[in-house]
Amino acid sequence: MSPRKGALPYAGGSDVGLVRSGNEDSYLVNAPLFAVADGLGGHQAGEVASHLAIEVLFGEAPKRADAKALGRAVRSANAAVIEAAETGRGRSGMGTTMTTAMVDGTRIVVAHVGDSRAYLLHLGTLSQITEDHSMVADMVRAGTLTPEEARVHPSRSVITRALGSDPNLLVDAFEVTAAPGDRLLLCSDGLTSMVEDEDIERIVAESPAPQTAVVRLLAAANDAGGQDNITAVVVDIGTAASAASPGAEAAPAQSADGHHWFARIAWVFVAAAIITGALYAAYAYAHSQAYVIEENGVVAVYRGVPGEFAGVTLHWLESVRTDIPTNALDPITAARLKEGIRVDGLPSAFKLIAEYQLQVGPSEITSPPVDPSATP
Ligand code: MG
Repeated sequence: MSPRKGALPYAGGSDVGLVRSGNEDSYLVNAPLFAVADGLGGHQAGEVASHLAIEVLFGEAPKRADAKALGRAVRSANAAVIEAAETGRGRSGMGTTMTTAMVDGTRIVVAHVGDSRAYLLHLGTLSQITEDHSMVADMVRAGTLTPEEARVHPSRSVITRALGSDPNLLVDAFEVTAAPGDRLLLCSDGLTSMVEDEDIERIVAESPAPQTAVVRLLAAANDAGGQDNITAVVVDIGTAASAASPGAEAAPAQSADGHHWFARIAWVFVAAAIITGALYAAYAYAHSQAYVIEENGVVAVYRGVPGEFAGVTLHWLESVRTDIPTNALDPITAARLKEGIRVDGLPSAFKLIAEYQLQVGPSEITSPPVDPSATP
């Protein structure tokens, strides 16, 4: 399949699954930086830990792909989660996994702790490029368990390394060289514990665009039972948009008036701290929402809420553009879709899409409806 026109070279998505009441996974799609974090601790503490870790990673990640520096950013995130637990934000015992990658052309640097995973699809073959830090993975490496036994082992979710407990946390940090056309997948164990690697491989290989792959992966995990929160980030390698923007690390211009420059930066930080609190609440809310909207004549799905809050957009790249033309739907629905129809989460959005699909019929409509007055 050829890539769909206008499709983004990367996408991320997360779903609560079918069993858990909340989603403790978090992810980041901010090219060239991508990450997945799977929070632990229950009672929303895991959510605090994974959000905080992603926040700190975002602030501390290097501007250019560098494995050691990315590893240091993950250690900063670890320190922040430990401190948060000690100072009462979240709770003691909370933690999170972290699998993060920075992409620069065909170079991929990875920093990783826990049992979330990074995979690389090369010429149709999917390979796991991270090692799980879990009890069953240790047992497989020691030869006391087969990979098949590990998948169903009662202790399969026990991890041996996580952010949030050890101040001297060991972070795996390394670089791999990919080829143009390869696909990178970051995911939480809610995907890999539900869907076999060969099925993940097929979905990632056969999806025309990253956003299609993400939606199909989340759906596959839910079809298999959705026992855990599911998160997937897919990045096409060797595309211009996934590369580091040139000059991103340009040194700040030397100012003759260094003092004023510093004062202004300090004020920016204070303002940012105040805004961040409100934004964080808005972010958490928006993240649980979804909407469907007309985009270039077809129905599209977004996570988040339309518009902006405090100048920040609160919708995310896991948009799905369907092949459903809005002018084939009933006029009231078509009109509502121009403004966007808000629903409480992605599953409800997909339910709407399924209804629209029924309205327009199962086959893909490629030509606009015929105007009856124009035909004899
Ligand atoms: Mg999980």
